[in-house]
Amino acid sequence: MESEKVIKDRLYAVEERITLACQKCGRQRCEVNLLAVTKTMPPAVCRAALSAGLSAFGESYVQELRPKMAALADEKAISWHFIGNLQSNKAKYLENCALIHSLDSLETAKELGRHAKEAKKVLVEVNCGEVQKGGVPPKELHDFISKLLDYPNIEVCGLMTVPPLAATESELSGYFSALAKMRDELAAKLPLKASFKELSMGMSADFELAIAAGATWIRLGSILFGQRNAARWWQQ
Ligand SMILES: *Cc1c(COP(=O)(O)O)cnc(C)c1O
Repeated sequence: MESEKVIKDRLYAVEERITLACQKCGRQRCEVNLLAVTKTMPPAVCRAALSAGLSAFGESYVQELRPKMAALADEKAISWHFIGNLQSNKAKYLENCALIHSLDSLETAKELGRHAKEAKKVLVEVNCGEVQKGGVPPKELHDFISKLLDYPNIEVCGLMTVPPLAATESELSGYFSALAKMRDELAAKLPLKASFKELSMGMSADFELAIAAGATWIRLGSILFGQRNAARWWQQ
């Protein structure tokens, strides 16, 4: 299991790369938020990550997030983000998540709003490649978001994407800049709030390209925590 020391060293190296990537494109380090993707990592690793200086944690599975949030309920500094495929019947369990990065269904939006105590912050996942499963296709995005504007208790704060695994560097840069352009065009056309500004894009293998294209949230897992273990800690 990854110790605080190991995570701290990796975080230090990652921070240097983030800072350099920001410098190269004239952005401030504070414009890029780091989401530590803790999926499959047991609560002890999350505590080590918190001690190492990370506090925004991203999870992909509701069945893992629930026991993890319960195990770490005493760690008030953690903010939980949901980045996985979300079914509407599980939306009720995400009441305490700070941000849902992966909204792609109106049915789920309705459920999220229904169970929220205050406006639920969401990003809309965009399907940028043809082979991807999740996400709203770009040509349906305007319609999808304009409908979301009528949903009570939902605050659309931006867009998210997961490019196809096989994408080359230049394709990745293309997907990331396309997402930034979609955000800007939607902001110009629809009566969205000023909070519609986030771009959640970039993972361990491609975060520098995402930063260059304007990412405001990069989602890093393996570069911080190592290989993900197939064994499910919450079922043991
Ligand atoms: C697992 C996951 C990540 C983290 O991937 P790494 O390549 O390990 O950094 C980021 N985003 C989403 C949506 C994921 O499911």
